[in-house]
Amino acid sequence: MTKKLLVLPGDGIGPEVMRETLRVVEWFQKNRGLSFEITHGLVGGASIDVHGVPLTQATIQAALDADAVLFGAVGGPQYDVQPFDNRPEIGILGLRSGLKLFANLRPATVLDALVDASPLKPELVRGLDIMIVREATGGIYFGEPRGIETLPDGQQRGYNTEVYTTNEIERVTRVACDIARKRGNRLCSVEKANVMDSGLLWRQVVTALVAREYPDIRLSHMYADNCAMQLAKNPHQFDVIVTSNLFGDLLSDLAAMLTGSLGMLPSATLGAVDARGKRHALYEPIHGSAPDIAGKDLANPMAQMLSFAMLLRYSFGLADDAQLIENAVAGVLAQGLATADLSLPGAKRISTTECGNAILAQLELLAK
Ligand code: NAD
Repeated sequence: MTKKLLVLPGDGIGPEVMRETLRVVEWFQKNRGLSFEITHGLVGGASIDVHGVPLTQATIQAALDADAVLFGAVGGPQYDVQPFDNRPEIGILGLRSGLKLFANLRPATVLDALVDASPLKPELVRGLDIMIVREATGGIYFGEPRGIETLPDGQQRGYNTEVYTTNEIERVTRVACDIARKRGNRLCSVEKANVMDSGLLWRQVVTALVAREYPDIRLSHMYADNCAMQLAKNPHQFDVIVTSNLFGDLLSDLAAMLTGSLGMLPSATLGAVDARGKRHALYEPIHGSAPDIAGKDLANPMAQMLSFAMLLRYSFGLADDAQLIENAVAGVLAQGLATADLSLPGAKRISTTECGNAILAQLELLAK
């Protein structure tokens, strides 16, 4: 069945890494019988340049109509003059809220060829494969009341509120449990139940939901500060982590750095399954628009390609096809070919375009 893809390359290196990824998409259409109806749209600075705003209503509608959205990156110094609420990055937030996406999936995997790129010792990270599921639309970043007020004595007081409801905790936990079932069947729920009421509720709700709906899952709980330590000390103990917006923000960046390579890391943000059985989803690399290397054919397109692999796995259930892309990426690195951002000893430096060529050659080889 033909699937509708909305492609939003964005700014900086976004269009470059997306160009190479679309060659991969094309390969799957030709060789694996997949069929996509692709719509292209503008987001971020590219949308500001044409429409004056980082995200138009038409683009939100196109995203709602699509089966999945493949997003590049947004931003750039030329947009620093924009008012805060019209910055390119607002384009991502607008898409997340327009599509009601609430579960951010951040895998942290270490491929054999890149073991030495990690700041941790090779024996700690070899074969690492963690999935962090971060609640993305609630918690302290959005909770009310919030603000900065002036007190009678002239001091100022800034405040934000961490708020979670049962439903918000349950829906993100279900996403994490469904993913855990397809992996090692282990889930670690992370909060600060020792000092935060919202954390205590989080722990109670997760415990009850897993017992009720996912009794086969091996559930553990960990305080967020300990989790940060454990990620650096013994990251292999984790399979899937589920946590709040704030803690997920910090822990997923920490986990990303265990892999040592920004240009390799994909992500997904998922919504609820709607009445028609469709789950809105947006897939994007975690890196930004890298203005320092944009337009130079230097960017690593692998994070964008791996985002497409996540799209195949999580939106369309095509785990074998997703694995094919992941194997092709590992295969290119194992051949000693790498873009300049990867510290791969003795590797031959390749450009963005050459990386695309190498991935396609690997796909041909693997598909034989
Ligand atoms: P960045 O991720 O764009 O770049 C950080 C460093 O990593 C740079 O040196 C860059 O050259 C390098 N890098 C990033 N991706 C790479 C890739 N695929 N291949 C090779 N090298 C890569 O972060 P930044 O410099 O802090 O931000 C630049 C712009 O991107 C800012 O406007 C920021 O707001 C925006 N941004 C957007 C997103 C997004 O679109 N989701 C995320 C983060 C930052």
